[in-house]
Formats: sequence, structure tokens, C-alpha cells
Amino acid sequence: MREPVIAGNWKMYKTIGQAVQFAEKLKAAAIPGGCRVVICPPFTALPAVSGVLRGTPIGLGAQNMHHREEGAFTGEVSPLMLKDAGCRYVILGHSERRQYFGETDRDVNLKVAAALDHQITPIVCVGELLEEREAGRTGEVVARQVLGCLNGLNAGQAERLIIAYEPVWAIGTGRTASAGDAQQVNRLIRDLLAENFGREVAQQVPILYGGSVKPGNAGELTAQPDIDGALVGGASLDPDSFIAIIRSAVSCKQ
Ligand code: PEP
Repeated sequence: MREPVIAGNWKMYKTIGQAVQFAEKLKAAAIPGGCRVVICPPFTALPAVSGVLRGTPIGLGAQNMHHREEGAFTGEVSPLMLKDAGCRYVILGHSERRQYFGETDRDVNLKVAAALDHQITPIVCVGELLEEREAGRTGEVVARQVLGCLNGLNAGQAERLIIAYEPVWAIGTGRTASAGDAQQVNRLIRDLLAENFGREVAQQVPILYGGSVKPGNAGELTAQPDIDGALVGGASLDPDSFIAIIRSAVSCKQ
């Protein structure tokens, strides 16, 4: 059985002090076994949070990464630097990166390959815009993103991925995809993985849902057979609500 993954994307929130305080609280909480918990603070807080989490099973991730190891790329952070700061995960292709910073599937594809080369687990985000859903194009859009972002990977690389289905209209809006709709898209993603990398790989890759996940809806969403956890934005900023989401997701999978 796939272990549920609950990842918190803090976006551009929290100073170093606030991030450390959160990490201390998470570390002290009785987090149930049988799940993977990851927090993704802003770059500035990564080394300090890494220090707090050292020796715990809680994973640390970044929210973006450049695909090159080093170079004249002002303002960018490389896979080597993320490893150095203690990261084992990186969120790639988040819709806010696509919307505000012009990231394309090709860019995400380069970053996914680079992360895997450096033993960093990519959390690859895909999801349709509201107008695409309303035009009945969700499946086509998500399939294009998945294939574009994973282009050129082999099965051995693909089995190390985490994918997050995040309908763009549900991110930070308080609107959530129904559990049934989210399950349908996650199933489509798993079928695509099976077609391209084999059934075994497809059964192994955690496929998360993201988009206004809260303690009140996490259980119903993660109870779906192809929803293996959640990528949580706003509700991951408060330790109590993040811990409640973790507990709810784990109890639904037992
Ligand atoms: C996200 O940032 O990935 C996200 C899903 O945000 P929110 O939970 O706030 O919708």
C-alpha cells in the first residue's frame, strides 16, 4: 500500500524565527506513523528548519529550484544548494510559478530531471484552469502537463516522483474539487504513468491532491483510492491545522 504523503507549501510566508517555531511544534507533536510528512518553507528558512528537523522523519522541501548546479543565474537556487540546506524534496511546476513566473512544462521537465539526478524527490504539480475545466478540457490539459513534465524519464526515475494534482481554481480560493472529481483526475494520472512507465511504477507513485485542503475536507479527499495525500498551502501555515490534516489523512487510509 502507498504511504500517504502530506506536504505543506508555505509559499512566501514566515520569517526564520516563525519557521523554526513551527518546526519545533511539529517535531513535538504526536504524528502518527505510516505517513510521510514534508514541510516546504521559503529558501531563507531552510537551513534553520533543517537543524530543527534533524533526526526526525519529517522531510524538508523547497518550493522551486533551478536545473543547473551553479552558474550566472542571478536570484536562482540550485539542486546542490538545496541538498546543502538539508532538502530532500522540492515542489516543481506549482501553478503560481507557472502563472507569475512563466514556467512551462519544458522548464519543469528540466528541473524534475535535475532534482532526480541529485536524489531530491520532486513534487510535480499539475492542474487545469477554471476555464479549461468549464470547457471539459481537464483530462487533456492534465495529461499534457504530466507528459511534458516527465518527458524523457525512465521507469527507475519515474518511480521516485510524487505528483500533485492541483486544480488552479481551487488553490487559495476556498473552493475544493469534489472528492469524486479529484479521484477521477488522479486516476487518469495513474493510468498515464502506467502507460508510460509500467503498472508497477504507477502503483508506487504517490499522487496527491491540492487546493484548499483543510482539516474538515482532508479525510474525504484522501479516502479516495487514488488520492495518496495532500499538498496543503494556506492550512499548512498553522501547526494545529496542519497536524489535524495529517491525522485525518492517516486515519482515512487505515
Ligand atoms: C498550494 O499552494 O499548493 C495550495 C494547494 O494552496 P491552498 O491549500 O492554500 O489552496
